[in-house]
Amino acid sequence: MSLQHETEDALASRLVEVRRSLHREPELSNEEFRTTEKLRGWLNEAGIRVLDLPLKTGLIAEVGQGNGSIVAIRCDIDALPIEEQTGLPYASAIPGKMHACGHDFHSAVILGAALLLKKREHELPGKVRILFQPAEETGHGAEEVLASGGLDGVQAIFGLHNSPELPTGTFGTRTGALTAGVDRFEITVKGVGAHAAYPENGVDTIVTAAQIITMLQTVVSRLNSTQEPVVLSVTRINGGFTWNVLPEKVELEGTVRTYNEAIRRSIPAQMTRIIEGIAAAAGAEAKLHWYPGPPATVNHGEWADFTKAAAARAGYEVHDIPPQMGGEDFAYYLQQIPGAFVNIGTGPNHALHHPQFDVDETALLPAAKYFAALAEQALAKLKPQA
Ligand SMILES: [Zn+2]
Ligand SMILES: [Zn+2]
Repeated sequence: MSLQHETEDALASRLVEVRRSLHREPELSNEEFRTTEKLRGWLNEAGIRVLDLPLKTGLIAEVGQGNGSIVAIRCDIDALPIEEQTGLPYASAIPGKMHACGHDFHSAVILGAALLLKKREHELPGKVRILFQPAEETGHGAEEVLASGGLDGVQAIFGLHNSPELPTGTFGTRTGALTAGVDRFEITVKGVGAHAAYPENGVDTIVTAAQIITMLQTVVSRLNSTQEPVVLSVTRINGGFTWNVLPEKVELEGTVRTYNEAIRRSIPAQMTRIIEGIAAAAGAEAKLHWYPGPPATVNHGEWADFTKAAAARAGYEVHDIPPQMGGEDFAYYLQQIPGAFVNIGTGPNHALHHPQFDVDETALLPAAKYFAALAEQALAKLKPQA
């Protein structure tokens, strides 16, 4: 076996260890203290500098030299409030918490890339910021990172998500929107409670809410172009407490997903018209509360093509994948910094957020090598020509 292979085998087992260590101790968004300390320890051990930034959890390291170009590679580090049911020997040791989105895999990949880049530090034509982002699952971690100033000066940024639908050895991305804008809403419907036998004495919030729910689907089917996908899902209904009383209040909650930012911005007004119009017709009062989440993740064409070419060179089977209605707060970076978000095959496996979700660990080393190569190639591309 060549020396190259021996070191690669060592790195492969190291990354499996790292991933399993994180997997065993999952931490929820904004509580990734132990995870951050572990990552800091592994980076320190390798002599990789960690930037001094006002981040409560998560961190940014830096490899490279000079005052030239800067690129960033990003992973997320948080877990989910899910009870793990994989039965794996390294399953979560923390009840009710699980790395069910594979952010442990992402962290091990990006740490591996950092270790590989460190070995080539003196050859790098610039600097690579290595971002371990907190709180992706809340949709707000990326905003904290941007506010910390840790990405100032970055000229291109790349991030990954594992894909249980793509087999190991495959790679997917696309130009344009890859994930949707993700907004949450709540609706309160207020009427007048009454005896169920005498509805004429009240204002029925159940019937009103039912009409609102049905009519809201016309936001998708009648108010926006069929050429621009929109999903509107009402996911919670709370109202009433027994069989013979009409409640005075009903609460609804749900989410809207779309790729088009102009449509996204027009939807709250469309919903408000429906909600308030139906409530007025019923003699009730209803109000929409809007909680914006991350916008669509829109890959820059030039860099999406660049990630695909690098993936092909690295031996991946490269796919153009369709956009997904899920969300990803990497979107905020791409609003300010050119770059692309990519999917790395780790499947077939259970879907993201499933209690039996797992990843194929043989995908770790190739992905680490890919991200190290991608960062270096991006620096070379950005380097001003002499
Ligand atoms: Zn997730
Ligand atoms: Zn995720």
